Amino acid sequence: MPKYVFVTGGVMSGLGKGVTTAAIAKLLQLSGFKVTCAKIDPYINVDAGTMNPITHGEVFVTDDGGEADMDLGTYERFLNQDLTIENNITTGQVYQKVINDEREGKFLGKCVQIIPHVTDEIKKRISDLAAHSHVDVIIVECGGTVGDMEGLPFLEAFRQMRMEEGLDNTLFIHVTLAPVINPVGEVKTKPTQHSVQELRRIGIQPDIIVVRGEELLTDETKKKISLFTSVESWKIISDPNLDSIYKIPECLELGGVLKPIFEQFQIVRKKFEVDRWSRIATSFTVVRPEIKIAIVGKYTNLSDSYASVNHALSHAGAMQGIDVQIDWLDAEEFEKNHKHLESLGNYHGILTPGGFGDRGSEGKILVANYTREKRIPYLGICFGFQLSVVAYARYVCGLDGANSIELDPSTPHPVVHLLPEQRDVKDVGATMRLGGHDITLVGGTIAFKLYGQMLIRRRHRHRYEFNQEYKDVLDEYGMVISAFSDGGRRAEIMEIPSHPFYLATQYHPEFTSRPGKPEEVYLAFVQAAAARRVNSKGP
Ligand code: GLN
Repeated sequence: MPKYVFVTGGVMSGLGKGVTTAAIAKLLQLSGFKVTCAKIDPYINVDAGTMNPITHGEVFVTDDGGEADMDLGTYERFLNQDLTIENNITTGQVYQKVINDEREGKFLGKCVQIIPHVTDEIKKRISDLAAHSHVDVIIVECGGTVGDMEGLPFLEAFRQMRMEEGLDNTLFIHVTLAPVINPVGEVKTKPTQHSVQELRRIGIQPDIIVVRGEELLTDETKKKISLFTSVESWKIISDPNLDSIYKIPECLELGGVLKPIFEQFQIVRKKFEVDRWSRIATSFTVVRPEIKIAIVGKYTNLSDSYASVNHALSHAGAMQGIDVQIDWLDAEEFEKNHKHLESLGNYHGILTPGGFGDRGSEGKILVANYTREKRIPYLGICFGFQLSVVAYARYVCGLDGANSIELDPSTPHPVVHLLPEQRDVKDVGATMRLGGHDITLVGGTIAFKLYGQMLIRRRHRHRYEFNQEYKDVLDEYGMVISAFSDGGRRAEIMEIPSHPFYLATQYHPEFTSRPGKPEEVYLAFVQAAAARRVNSKGP
């Protein structure tokens, strides 16, 4: 019978609740239990696919083709586990199911209500996920902050599950913030007190409180929180800012987070295999030589918009003993002033990530061409792949006006065109080519060498693709398509063998990069950037 841990948040959003959830899950995994995490997003969207990454962070793609909340990426990276779209539950999914059932007459004349029908559907989704994942423990994180109106049905479902599953099978963790607001450094506990009061008002008494803050809490502060919340002070756990998120599991373990979990669940640790994880975490913080990478994109004011790209670069850097510093450059600036391209010479590598639409795309094409000419290591991802092909067609093969039909439907040279199965697609939600697909590498290519195998599987999210009618002419001018999928119908990698490192992928390698196990393309890109640093061709 699975055990359920419910994680709620208080005080404010953006506390790093997802990382705290993943860190606790990691500790249970290291202790020998089979675990998984689920994220509840109380918004009405059915999934995160239709949401703007500027406000909501990146859309994370699961292997089974789900467009999920970015916290699923955090869970995958901590647990080294592939999750499914079932691990992301939204209000949209729950209501869609309940309303469809009502239309089909499944409620047999009943009045359909939030309690019990919506809460029943929520509980069913959680317990089905636990059953399908065959786990000992499932950690369910509710997005948002206690008191949000849209989160209430979920917290109500949690409350009911405590009653139904029993005290020794359910546990509530509340994550709050203890801010320091004056220069004297006094830690304020009132926001935590209020948020626990709010939680109790809806019938949930937390079993553990995890308190985010700048520093470790003193015993005195813990006692004060304890007094006001009825949570014993040894169950109040500090979650301070650390120099790497991968150090959080050990910090929480030292703070004693596992003891109250084991005690309540009446389970004992089977083992504690922390050494490898510790070594990985340390590799992110040791003093290392720096390289500077520029990411040329559209959503440059919120690094969460490209969270997995950032993590993939840092995984590759940690593995190589290199500290990867990232600058965000707005692609539109290169369109406004071509001279601005020269600033790219200050970097050891340039990355163009995934993207959609017109804005900034000409700038990205100019960047793809400049890095080729100046022999700066270059990695293009998805849209970055498509625009690299456009740049090559225009500036090397002389195909004037070459473009993607996403950007110019009447281009004389549609080197990137719509996927055939997309032609009749009208809806935007979950209709792209999504998720994991098998990819076959071409022997003798750079891609083949860096993967060291013929077959890989990577995740996708696109509507457009390379138009293979142009393969021969590009090939003639020295651009190689080095990987295919769907029986040769989809091009997956382009590379320029005569360049120090110029490679672009239609798939998103960042979604499968893990700490201690960086994705091969990112690793090769970071190695090439480091070589540029050593050869002092860069800054
Ligand atoms: N806009 C491009 C497409 O739909 C690229 C998508 C992406 O970069 N994820 O094919």
